[in-house]
Amino acid sequence: MNKILLLIALMGLLLAGGPAFAQQAGPSAAPTSSIDVHNLPPLASGKPFDPQKATMAYLAQVGGAARVRSDSYFEGGYVLLFVDAFYSIAVSGLLLWFRISARMRTFAQARTRLRFWQVPIYVAQYIVLTAVLSLPLTIYEGFFRERSYGLMNQTFLSWFGDQTILLGLTLVAGVVLLTLIYSAIRRTKRNWWLWGTAIVTAFNTILLIIAPVFIAPLFNHYSPLPQSPLRSDILSMARANGIPADNVYLSDASRQSDRISANVSGFLGTTRITLNDNLLRHGTHDEVLAVLGHEMGHYVLDHGLRLLLLNALVIVVGFAFVNWGFGVLTDFFGGNWDVRTIDDPAGLPVLAALATIFMLLATPVTNAISRTTEIQADMFGINAARKPDAFSTAILKVSSYRKLDPSPWEEAIFYDHPSGHTRIWEMMQWKAGHLNDPDIKAGPVSPQ
Ligand SMILES: [Zn+2]
Repeated sequence: MNKILLLIALMGLLLAGGPAFAQQAGPSAAPTSSIDVHNLPPLASGKPFDPQKATMAYLAQVGGAARVRSDSYFEGGYVLLFVDAFYSIAVSGLLLWFRISARMRTFAQARTRLRFWQVPIYVAQYIVLTAVLSLPLTIYEGFFRERSYGLMNQTFLSWFGDQTILLGLTLVAGVVLLTLIYSAIRRTKRNWWLWGTAIVTAFNTILLIIAPVFIAPLFNHYSPLPQSPLRSDILSMARANGIPADNVYLSDASRQSDRISANVSGFLGTTRITLNDNLLRHGTHDEVLAVLGHEMGHYVLDHGLRLLLLNALVIVVGFAFVNWGFGVLTDFFGGNWDVRTIDDPAGLPVLAALATIFMLLATPVTNAISRTTEIQADMFGINAARKPDAFSTAILKVSSYRKLDPSPWEEAIFYDHPSGHTRIWEMMQWKAGHLNDPDIKAGPVSPQ
């Protein structure tokens, strides 16, 4: 994915913590691992239930080549985090040192004398040029790497078509957002970073509201889930948790990948429950309910709002850093770049490079914000659905693209969802505390 743009870094920040069960940035792919739940050993009667052993028994279900492959895929992501950052800084450097950015600014000035309109003309050139310069990395990460791990269901052309739509959306969003931010920079001078945060947060709020209705359908087809006992159970659980939905939608996510996903979105009469066809196809009745319990948690606990506000705190610190860094860098190199003041759009690559550095350093913080939100949803979900084993097996089914059992520091730095180990452990602890409830069976995992 193109992470060069400040906009994308900020939108990505919002979307990364969004209420999706599967961690995915835009359309991408992954098959589920083959877990045969029915082969799990039965509970040996008479022995007490040990949540630690039960957790280990679940984790042991994914082993050998499958475990090596998913670990390798996920750990490769750590490296790519740095590769992407260095690549985007290099692109910024190229635009500045060869004065390409200054020339794009001069081109915009030649089109109009109004400083307001010079910004969108510059930004449009910038977005297209950086997308083109990043294309080799985007193609490798988004298509070839996914395919080499068996995580891609699309042909190259179909994938490229999705990327083109994404670029179109980025172009529209980036031009609008950066034009407003530069307007704030010119008007409010020193305090622009406060106003900039307000503008980005307002923009993210609008994005959160319109994305399920206007953006998601550009990539996938949505249809009502036909009447079935499963549909009735989903709506019954929604009613029991105060979610005003009377329909369940199904998306054709298998077009892109085999990743399992669902969400509950919207408000003011647009509330909708959506599950993807992969969840329906690969999940059991109970697994679907367990996953939707988690998604309902995001909705009921107002996680959209929580993430908007916490991300605003990150953004305000980020803008303050970018504001300070711009002054330092242009004092040294402004002459070489033909970039002097922060209200000059030719300085956008400087802002983008600084934002990239900030986002890289802030990764443990943004991941912690997302991860704590996910843990809350897990807790809500288990209390709503009461299916600790089904949730655990659903977790095993997403392990083909998420390392199941990382070290604690790895999880703290790189995970935007809790690891499979942590989540199954949560479930088994919950189960240990509810073994006397009539609907909770001690099986199927053996405590040996
Ligand atoms: Zn979630």
